[in-house]
Amino acid sequence: MDHFLYRDGALFAEDVPVAEIAAQVGTPFYCYSTATFERHFRLFDEALEGTDHLVCYAMKAASNQAILKTLAALGAGMDVVSGGEYARAKAAGVPGDRIVFSGVGKTREEIHTALTGGIRQFNVESEPEMEVINAVALELGVKAPITVRVNPDVDAKTHAKIATGKSENKFGIPISRAREVYAHAASLPGLEVIGIDVHIGSQLTQLEPFRLAYQKVAELTETLRADGHDIRRLDLGGGLGIPYERSNDAPPLPVEYGAMVKETLGHLNCEIEIEPGRLIAGNAGIMVSKVIYVKEGEDRQFMIIDGAMNDLIRPAMYEAHHDIIPVVEATPGEEPTTYDIVGPVCESGDTFAKGRTMAEVKPDDLVAFRSAGAYGAVMASEYNTRPLIPEVLVHGDQFAVIRRRPTFEEVINRDTIPEWL
Ligand SMILES: *Cc1c(COP(=O)(O)O)cnc(C)c1O
Repeated sequence: MDHFLYRDGALFAEDVPVAEIAAQVGTPFYCYSTATFERHFRLFDEALEGTDHLVCYAMKAASNQAILKTLAALGAGMDVVSGGEYARAKAAGVPGDRIVFSGVGKTREEIHTALTGGIRQFNVESEPEMEVINAVALELGVKAPITVRVNPDVDAKTHAKIATGKSENKFGIPISRAREVYAHAASLPGLEVIGIDVHIGSQLTQLEPFRLAYQKVAELTETLRADGHDIRRLDLGGGLGIPYERSNDAPPLPVEYGAMVKETLGHLNCEIEIEPGRLIAGNAGIMVSKVIYVKEGEDRQFMIIDGAMNDLIRPAMYEAHHDIIPVVEATPGEEPTTYDIVGPVCESGDTFAKGRTMAEVKPDDLVAFRSAGAYGAVMASEYNTRPLIPEVLVHGDQFAVIRRRPTFEEVINRDTIPEWL
């Protein structure tokens, strides 16, 4: 459920008409709903009620500081995957002891920054990384809390580009080598081994792959405890999917996921951490765009809009589906029409949808891409010198621009011309 609904034929974001925001900030833009972010965070938090737990929002899904502050106020931790995200989380006021650092390529500098600024734990992805964390911790005279990310070799049954839990993926250490790696970690004086981490992929639409992975983590917990490790925290990653197509079967709900977590891992008395990103942010955001032209092709109609692949790359990158709806609802009984919906960028990949049947539109009409809150704005680029589009956050009947559109001058003036020119 989200808070982007029609009222009397006009699309609203909570209590604000989307067309009103468009008139003020121009198109295209991202629009987020505070109430939806809050609702999704609470669904996870409540799903784990009764177990010691922390929901660490995977901020790479949507990382504007206003979003981070909204979630942090509810008690969310953050899962970060770069020094930049760490700095952003800190800037938004998230305390270090609620920040988890994930990612396969943490640099010495990033590790240093996190150890000095405060960190809940590093999720370690390789032995060489473990050595570096140990070395930096010893230099600083501290102990770095770590879990090791294990790769359980399960098929997440999701798009290949976002599956991470098979042995051929670059993530984590093979679970078959876990005992050896934990023994090594325990021998390093700069590390404090506190738990196990696993994350098998994104946009999972079934519970079974999670269950298989968590069963393996449960077994591993007992094995490592028997080896003498004090395993007390289990980081279960993120990955629960969202319904991108309203017409499709819905993925499992957070409450079902939570029940499965308790069932597979509850007996171990570990603190549970989860790192949802997409499910918190995905349906909390839309991208609003304006129709520039409707062009008749030989055997099809193109709807050319002012948003493009640089603003929302998911369709080009993952063949992702977004529901695209008119901001002024179609009048009942009106004959729908079929479009290829494309942006202005000079690539055929700049296609959002092919053969999409929807209400007829004309130039200057507004359309909204649903489920664009996660992996939307954060993956945008300025390809074709198209400035990053603004982000707007709605809160009840108020809205605020939380990242404004840069001017062409600002974009162009980031270049510096060498003196020989
Ligand atoms: C991307 C990522 C997540 C979040 O995944 P979602 O599918 O957005 O929930 C969580 N943990 C790690 C380590 C990740 O890389």
